[in-house]
Amino acid sequence: MLFILKDEADPSLLVEKIKMSSASYRYVDLDGRRIVVAWPDKYVEGIVDETVAVKVRATTPYQLASKVWREKSIVNVNGVEIGSSKVVVAAGPCAVEDEGMVMEVARVVKKAGASMLRGGAFKPRTSPYTFQGLGVKGLEILRRVKDAVGLPIVTEVLDARDAPLVASYADMIQIGARNAQNFALLREVGKLKRPALLKRGMWMTVEEWLLSAEYILLEGNSKVVLCERGIRTFEKATRFTLDITGMVYAKTQTHLPIAVDPSHPAGRRDLVEPLALAAVAAGADMLIIEVHINPEKALSDSEQQLTINEFEKLMERLKLVAGAVGRTI
Ligand code: PEP
Ligand code: MN
Repeated sequence: MLFILKDEADPSLLVEKIKMSSASYRYVDLDGRRIVVAWPDKYVEGIVDETVAVKVRATTPYQLASKVWREKSIVNVNGVEIGSSKVVVAAGPCAVEDEGMVMEVARVVKKAGASMLRGGAFKPRTSPYTFQGLGVKGLEILRRVKDAVGLPIVTEVLDARDAPLVASYADMIQIGARNAQNFALLREVGKLKRPALLKRGMWMTVEEWLLSAEYILLEGNSKVVLCERGIRTFEKATRFTLDITGMVYAKTQTHLPIAVDPSHPAGRRDLVEPLALAAVAAGADMLIIEVHINPEKALSDSEQQLTINEFEKLMERLKLVAGAVGRTI
């Protein structure tokens, strides 16, 4: 149950009543909306308190992420609004490899219309024998590129112990597909109050994905953007199956903005453009796309990273599709 408090109301009396009911509860402040979340509903159904503006029954397992109490949220990442009529494009290499390369990609993608820079310093690799990322050195490169080019940065955190460090460099913290149910990490990112890009694990149902977002929201961090990046299905021809159905369904369930990563499901660069166009046509609020100066030589995901020319061409086509669905890029 969500007890949404009246402005300026003191939650202590309500909290006393909830404690007496033996329910569990959590007080959160989401963008100034002060909410007491209490569970299970049956313990608190009878509670009435004059400090409460609205009482919202739990109709889904996720409550704070649900659309039931809030129509739409806009997540502001250092001045870039995600969830408005403008579709936000974050672009950059899979991994930060060296400063010159990230600097060049950043300049070009900005010119082509991207409003954020992506790049992994801590890389979640299937094999421990492959490039693991530059770690802190990679974060420092990202900071220098950001200062020189002026694009906010989205970069991944792999381990809850590194979360404060990554947050001190990143404008938006990415939680990768493989960590999407790492509940300790989700809580940590919630506590840091930095905007978070929460990938969907390749095994996760939409409900599980929204419950992962709930962990972050419950720590009082309202700045969550969900990211569909493909799930595992029986289909082996592509790396993953981009679940557009799940993405549009999620939009009917949650007020949180939704991003799509067309690069990782594609697994090969010629499929990235049609997937990106489909995502925008279907209502994605953000795209996160891998672009490399010389994809052939990339230290990770070399097959799917776009060349600069391909990215520029993609941005032109995206503008047409965005315009057709009443949005801009
Ligand atoms: C990435 O975006 O760099 C990445 C590793 O993606 P995912 O977690 O979706 O595999
Ligand atoms: Mn990658």
